[in-house]
Amino acid sequence: MNQNLTAERPTFVTHLECSLTGQCYDADTLHGLSEAGRPLLVRYDLDAVAANLPRPMLDARPTDLWRWRELLPVRRTANVVSLGEIETPLVAIPVSGGANVLVKDEGRLPTGSFKARGLVMAVAMAKELGVTRIAMPTNGNAGAALAAYATRVGIETIVFCPEDTPEVNVREIALQGARVWRVNGLIDDCGAIVGKGAAEGRWFDFSTLKEPYRIEGKKTMGLELAAQFGWKLPDAIFYPTGGGTGLIGMWKAFDELEAMGWIGAERPRMYAVQASGCAPIVKAFEAGQEHAERWEDAHTVAAGIRVPKAVGDFLILRAVRASGGKAVAVGDPAILQAVDDAARHDGLLLCPEGGATLAAYREAVKIGEVDPGETVVLFNCATGLKYPMPAAPRTLDRHQPIDFDAL
Ligand SMILES: *Cc1c(COP(=O)(O)O)cnc(C)c1O
Repeated sequence: MNQNLTAERPTFVTHLECSLTGQCYDADTLHGLSEAGRPLLVRYDLDAVAANLPRPMLDARPTDLWRWRELLPVRRTANVVSLGEIETPLVAIPVSGGANVLVKDEGRLPTGSFKARGLVMAVAMAKELGVTRIAMPTNGNAGAALAAYATRVGIETIVFCPEDTPEVNVREIALQGARVWRVNGLIDDCGAIVGKGAAEGRWFDFSTLKEPYRIEGKKTMGLELAAQFGWKLPDAIFYPTGGGTGLIGMWKAFDELEAMGWIGAERPRMYAVQASGCAPIVKAFEAGQEHAERWEDAHTVAAGIRVPKAVGDFLILRAVRASGGKAVAVGDPAILQAVDDAARHDGLLLCPEGGATLAAYREAVKIGEVDPGETVVLFNCATGLKYPMPAAPRTLDRHQPIDFDAL
């Protein structure tokens, strides 16, 4: 086993804090949302982290997610769970993107998506806090990651997904040990069922941001980026935004690293990318509002960002505005074109949500919002192999004469 997982280390969590009111909560008991109905954020003694984690010590560790242990909430090493959460590579896409565009390819994580980052942490904490049964609404990838990690630690899971969730997601969730139900509604309709069962005490609610620890797992994307860029940050980040956990998590990571003195005050411009068929955050951003209204009749090929209503809407909007970035929407045709271009010209198979970030980047360059000379990171959040691909219908009859010139 990797040395990041075997050593006992001190932990530095001080308390949890309501993201809206700042009210404090005890760290070592089970919590959902705050009393104000908002996400809870984990707070650390960052001076003590800096004192106990000299940079050479970090540099000497294997570059996986658990190398950040001092900045993560799990107290006891026995509760750490792992399926091999590697540091994901930054892959250039010079033809379809440009000379300064890097794709952070999260498709290489366990269960094929970055939901593994959030769920490995949330499940480890559920284990630490004695949870035995979890339920979750999902558009696919989160349910798969939950199923895998919960099975690993022996926690029972019940997962609800919209009936048109991609078949591969429904099946991987089932195969990895969860009871999965297709529901005739959208993800927030599934969330209502989970909420009702949780209120009756049937299970713990693992909806996005309704427990405090998925953000901490997703935060590692920001920590990794800082390390990969040599303790500087790129000029801009394009993030496909559903519930926004990753964007909120990265923003939190940057603040923590600055408090530790590891990076300066400069921040990337954060672009929250949505599909034009489901763009509640974009609408609120453009209207200058702090919260987003539910988006009716949500539809897009990018299922992972088909989220009509996000509980962390105000946290996404605050981070985007504070960074000098924007919330932007792209249409399905531009998304599919971007996926096609990256695959055909750069050999990198993106998921549709990753395609959305490339489409948004291209549009941003076209309108002068981003300079092609700026260093930009696009997030590809799942492996393209989980999604439908265009047909490849050519066949060859080996019993007939073969026209080799035509091959
Ligand atoms: C969940 C998901 C997203 C959205 O992530 P959030 O952090 O919830 O906004 C984007 N892309 C894919 C592939 C996903 O599975």
